[in-house]
Amino acid sequence: MKILAFDIGGTEIKYALCDESFNLTEKSSVPTNAHDGGPKIIERVVEIIKSYNGIDRVGVSTAGQVDSIKGEIIFATDSIPGYTGVKIKEIIEKETGIPTAVENDVNSAAIGEAVFGAAKGCSDFICLTYGTGIGGAVYLNGKLFTGSSFSAGEFGHMVTHAGGKSCTCGGCGCYEAYASAGALVRMVAEKTGRDMNGREIFENFENPEIKAVIDDWIDEIVVGLKGLIYIFNPLLVVAGGGIMNEKYIIDEVNDRLQKELMQSFRKVKFVKALMGNDANKLGAAYLAYKL
Ligand SMILES: [Zn+2]
Repeated sequence: MKILAFDIGGTEIKYALCDESFNLTEKSSVPTNAHDGGPKIIERVVEIIKSYNGIDRVGVSTAGQVDSIKGEIIFATDSIPGYTGVKIKEIIEKETGIPTAVENDVNSAAIGEAVFGAAKGCSDFICLTYGTGIGGAVYLNGKLFTGSSFSAGEFGHMVTHAGGKSCTCGGCGCYEAYASAGALVRMVAEKTGRDMNGREIFENFENPEIKAVIDDWIDEIVVGLKGLIYIFNPLLVVAGGGIMNEKYIIDEVNDRLQKELMQSFRKVKFVKALMGNDANKLGAAYLAYKL
């Protein structure tokens, strides 16, 4: 079976061919040109599909909240204007005749990690991606838990600070305003007056002022995780996002969880996602394969 897997983000549409053994080949990407609007993006995806011969299935991982049964976007922020309501599955199937699976990007990544990566063989885990914001996915009893309206796992917007900093969601005190990689960058800039990205921050790890900020930020990560661990009692917390390549974060979060969690929850491990940028495409390809 030949599957074409897409990962639609705010800046790039990445895609690759995927065989039955789930090897990704011919990886490629085009700019999303999000300002052209949602429908145009799917037009571009259809053009790409038509440029291949012999494709049996299409798997789409995409930004935005997705009704994975109908394969349409139920809500997307203004980062992709006009994306809300776009019927991705219907359009692709009508234009190409190829059966298509569509899933939200963090959910796709969770499937990718569950089938091929850090959570292989694990039936109960949660996934969080620490980037500009914080995305989340819930995997329970061996399958994705998507909630009553396909929106479960918005961990970035659970409130960890009542009345705290304002957030892009319109609320305030949200987890992602304190614990995302973006929040760390802001915290370091406030403390030191220097604008550094995540990599630069960790290159200056020996600077006591910066290390203190990192340690405070890790406390923010742990505060949110404790709540989630008490709710879901997962065996694993899989953490994605480039910043999680810093071993210090992984080790510290595990240490603090072991000290702070009630004893019966301490089996949990905080681990780095393993599939990197391929997780979304592999998850979407797997869902397409299972159609
Ligand atoms: Zn929020």
